[in-house]
Amino acid sequence: MDALISGLHHVTATVSDAQADVDFYVGLLGQRLVKKTVNFDNPGVYHFYYGNEAGEPGTIMTTFPYAGMGVREGANGAGQIDVTSFSAPAGAMDFWRARLAAAGVPYTGDPTPFGEDSLHFDDPSGLHIRIVGTSGDERAPWTRPDIHASQAIRGIHSVSMAVRQPESTGALLTRMLDARKVGEAEGTERFAMGDATPGRLVEVSNAGGAPGAINGLGTVHHVAFAVATPEDQLRMQRELRRMGFQVTDVMDRQYFTSIYFREPNGVLYEIATLPPGFAIDEPLAELGRALKLPPWEEQRRPLIEQLLPPVTY
Ligand code: ZN
Repeated sequence: MDALISGLHHVTATVSDAQADVDFYVGLLGQRLVKKTVNFDNPGVYHFYYGNEAGEPGTIMTTFPYAGMGVREGANGAGQIDVTSFSAPAGAMDFWRARLAAAGVPYTGDPTPFGEDSLHFDDPSGLHIRIVGTSGDERAPWTRPDIHASQAIRGIHSVSMAVRQPESTGALLTRMLDARKVGEAEGTERFAMGDATPGRLVEVSNAGGAPGAINGLGTVHHVAFAVATPEDQLRMQRELRRMGFQVTDVMDRQYFTSIYFREPNGVLYEIATLPPGFAIDEPLAELGRALKLPPWEEQRRPLIEQLLPPVTY
């Protein structure tokens, strides 16, 4: 089969407070809020999409802020994405150290297993975040007055997962998801898709005897991989089903279409299309300003707006 997966599309996490989430990803990390919408499966909850200027797949982190909705605290463990990494220019790592310190965000500075400068810290909900210093990440960043283009985060660098049987996770990545192994160090394997640049990397480590992950506040819900077209998505769905995976039907996520399945160690994967993208319902210059609802929820807009807590950014 030809390569259908071009890299990561987005990472989605279950988080707690909406305002704290926006303050962290927009205010501190300098991401653009490229879409303010609702959880299509639970429209009383926001769905925030953060990304670069154009909201390109591979730069997108998305969150469901579930504070006060009775969702339990999650716990990291086996069968889960436990670290989401962002890519920043290697020369800007001192800027990020100073910015985190000024914001009172504790961090540690161990390099990645592959020798890259990196900073580890938690977001307000407890998600494990890492900024990795990279060179040659050509993606156009979103900037703001206090974050220069030479310093700004370029997008997602990679996701890291801990699993009980790394061989089976690796086999699926290489045989079905068009990845190849590009490194192994300190018990962590790194896989890459496409040209192996940031936004196309997945790390897999052995969870050992760690207890199973608990999905909930402060944990990653799933990672999405990108395909170019709806036809490619259907091919992936067919191939995965043929291999025995329980793959969902195609779901309309307004900005892309999606299928979901669990990989052999239980991590939830999504395969999402590149088109139509975030400019389908508002101009590029205005992304993220207004609450956007899918057409089928528009008639309930007054009720939904009442349910959602106000956020400023
Ligand atoms: Zn998703």
